[in-house]
Amino acid sequence: MRVDAWKLARERGSIEGNIDAHRLARIADLLAPGPADIAWRVAGAADAEGRAALAVELAGEVMLTCQRCLGGFAWPIRQEGSVLLAASEGELEALDARTDAEVVLAAGPVDPLDLVEDELLLALPFAPRHPADACTLPAGTMTTHRRT
Ligand SMILES: [Zn+2]
Repeated sequence: MRVDAWKLARERGSIEGNIDAHRLARIADLLAPGPADIAWRVAGAADAEGRAALAVELAGEVMLTCQRCLGGFAWPIRQEGSVLLAASEGELEALDARTDAEVVLAAGPVDPLDLVEDELLLALPFAPRHPADACTLPAGTMTTHRRT
């Protein structure tokens, strides 16, 4: 499925769907086995200066692997972001230099799942871990004991 991002932005339209995050190439390796159903919505928008933009919203839950104990745990996803549209590589570079916003190249039709994948990457922790009190790793296992 590909959409005309400019038309979506201009008409303030929106599209939505559900995706199993295991099917997203850059996400799959980061997930533990288990359900990873993400509801997504991509909506036409504009930034404060009237530039064409898309708002991306995600909601759902994925399973991650704790880096301390290697146990799985559920990670809720509630993510909202937006991206500016660039019509060419040159415009993308110019927008990148002028704004702090994320910019995507939309020279042709855009796959909304690419935007969903980008946004989901931002929603995942760099180093997934249980909260300290929920981790099943016995205390001290990871530390090196110094001989006295
Ligand atoms: Zn853990």
